[in-house]
Amino acid sequence: MMIFYTHWSCFLQKLYHQFWHAIFIIMVNDILARQTAMIFKCFLLMYYKNSRGRNYRKQGQMLTLVEYLLLLYRALLPAPVWYRFFLNKEYGSLFSSLMTGLYLTFKLTSVVEKVQYFFASIKALSRKEVHYGAYATLEQVVSAAGDLCAICQEKMHAPILLRCKHIFCEDCVSEWFERERTCPLCRALVKPADLRSFGDGSTSLFFQLF
Ligand SMILES: [Zn+2]
Ligand SMILES: [Zn+2]
Repeated sequence: MMIFYTHWSCFLQKLYHQFWHAIFIIMVNDILARQTAMIFKCFLLMYYKNSRGRNYRKQGQMLTLVEYLLLLYRALLPAPVWYRFFLNKEYGSLFSSLMTGLYLTFKLTSVVEKVQYFFASIKALSRKEVHYGAYATLEQVVSAAGDLCAICQEKMHAPILLRCKHIFCEDCVSEWFERERTCPLCRALVKPADLRSFGDGSTSLFFQLF
């Protein structure tokens, strides 16, 4: 009985140690991946700042794309660590293969979801038309509120006609739709529920531990 007891507590101690070791490795990897993505996003912002004609929509789409790639990569990062942890034969092979199977199933569903998000963000990048309105013709701009944009109070640049018939510059309104889904003037719901945008350069704050 005594021998069994010491063996058991020794095993638990080892398990505890291995668990925190795995958590530590994963957290370091997670931080490194995020730092790399942050540097990359800074380069993107610098590139779009220097390019002629501020292109807020493209910039936002690129930042969103990078963020989804990062989320996918971060979902994959802990998988080998936990795979090794669960496949430890000391737990008994039945328990170990059960845990490995459960973990891989859980991981696969989350990775498939992230792959879908990633491809959706690529598709959004290649989409030419704006999904909350269409480019306005010159007559539409003139017959509306003159050719001044209500957001920037300047002459319209690449005017976009929203579904509610209000017109704004493309850059102004795409910046607005990073945060809102309604028209800035009449509050009509314009933007459909869509892929979550990380166009302002924001990032998910959670640690991806499992
Ligand atoms: Zn404007
Ligand atoms: Zn409106």
